Amino acid sequence: MRRSIPLTPTPSGISADGGDGVAQRIVVLGAGFAGLWSAIGAARALDELGIGADRVEIVAIDMTAWHSIRVRNYEADLEGTRVSLDSVLGPIGVRRLEGEVTGVDVAGRTVAYAANGAPHSIAYDRLVFALGSRLAHPPIPGLATHAFDVDTHAAAERLNAHIAALPHRASSPGQSTVLVVGGGPTGIEAATEIPGKLRAAGIAAPRVILADHAPRIGADMGAGALPVIEEALAALGIEALGGVSVAAVDAEGATLATGERIAAATVVWCAGMQAHPLTAQFPVERDRLGRLPVEPSLKIKGLAAEFAAGDAAWFLVDGVHCSVMSCQHGRPMGRFAGHNVVCNLLDRPMLPLRIDWYTTILDLGPWGAVYTEGWDRQLVSQGSAAKRTKEIINRERIYPPRSGKRREILDSAGPTVQAPPVRFG
Ligand SMILES: Cc1cc2nc3c(=O)[nH]c(=O)nc-3n(C[C@H](O)[C@H](O)[C@H](O)COP(=O)(O)OP(=O)(O)OC[C@H]3O[C@@H](n4cnc5c(N)ncnc54)[C@H](O)[C@@H]3O)c2cc1C
Repeated sequence: MRRSIPLTPTPSGISADGGDGVAQRIVVLGAGFAGLWSAIGAARALDELGIGADRVEIVAIDMTAWHSIRVRNYEADLEGTRVSLDSVLGPIGVRRLEGEVTGVDVAGRTVAYAANGAPHSIAYDRLVFALGSRLAHPPIPGLATHAFDVDTHAAAERLNAHIAALPHRASSPGQSTVLVVGGGPTGIEAATEIPGKLRAAGIAAPRVILADHAPRIGADMGAGALPVIEEALAALGIEALGGVSVAAVDAEGATLATGERIAAATVVWCAGMQAHPLTAQFPVERDRLGRLPVEPSLKIKGLAAEFAAGDAAWFLVDGVHCSVMSCQHGRPMGRFAGHNVVCNLLDRPMLPLRIDWYTTILDLGPWGAVYTEGWDRQLVSQGSAAKRTKEIINRERIYPPRSGKRREILDSAGPTVQAPPVRFG
């Protein structure tokens, strides 16, 4: 028995969107790796069941008009890395709303968002929360004002523009120095591209420092990958600085907890991720990263109509290991969330997501890459062989179809888990 979406309550000044005659509505928040694939997965499931938008409408809300391939934000040329959401959602009949989600009312089944400078709300029958994660900014003096990052497309473009303009600044001791803080995968990928970016800007003798709390940069990547990472950093002339704690950042560099000063006109913060703060609006206990606990169906534990996927959610992917904030997990979580949100709405059995493999393919700039497999990170390949795998992932495998063809787009989002990435060498 289908029910009608109730008209959204309209407190003064809030526009309503919900009484337009659509029988039921699925709202997807975010159109990143988890959200876009949720929306396509839901459209695919409805298409398979022969249900049109007159019976179940899918609405995707994102604050930009783009599907950002966030994993490429460390690259020197970001032109053309993103995909227009309309080119993917338009052909499959998903309604796109551009705006910033500002609240979720689980009891009232409504989402608040701001668009064109005005507050709006939209009612839902089923929700997929996929607003992702954000770079964590600890309260270090000067960090928010002076540090750069590669967390979003806009931030990454800002960093690249700043580096390109460095030679035109007044000369300073740290003009040719970039300090990257955070020696995890994002920091390593950001750092290994920076010598090339500095040289392209006309800085003949660049200095790049990669600093972390941990004594050895890259140790988290496993015993097999560690020497590969160290070799690549050395070959690229990057100084690995372990055991470092940044106490303050300013326009001319950073001060360490020891009082030592690193002169650097560019500080790039890559240390830690937190789930989107709106996860706090769900009446469930979140993990230490702020993520929502979900069933293998991607339905939020303990809630009736709300699903979550990607960096904003966690579950045990193989019954043992916790999902990782990654596009590797975000995309299948999205496809299954999309499929299952439709099944749940239409009272059909849902499919549990199980992922039995885990890989890490880390870009190491012009040196190549390193590919590990398994939760114990066994070395698979390195150098140019691993780089070929990385390029296929970043430029083909993780993209939605760009043909604009409805059938191709729908077929790309079935509730299945891909095979691990191809190996070379
Ligand atoms: C530089 C870098 C390199 C990475 N490399 C890898 C890698 O090699 N492999 C890997 O697996 N993972 C990698 N990751 C992690 C990966 O990018 C994330 O895990 C992934 O993007 C998570 O997908 P998501 O859909 O949950 O979130 P996101 O991709 O961040 O998408 C969230 C979406 O929500 C939108 N949004 C956010 N807040 C609001 C709001 N209030 N209102 C409306 N819209 C909003 C955003 O615009 C965005 O479109 C990397 C990350 C970075 C930054």
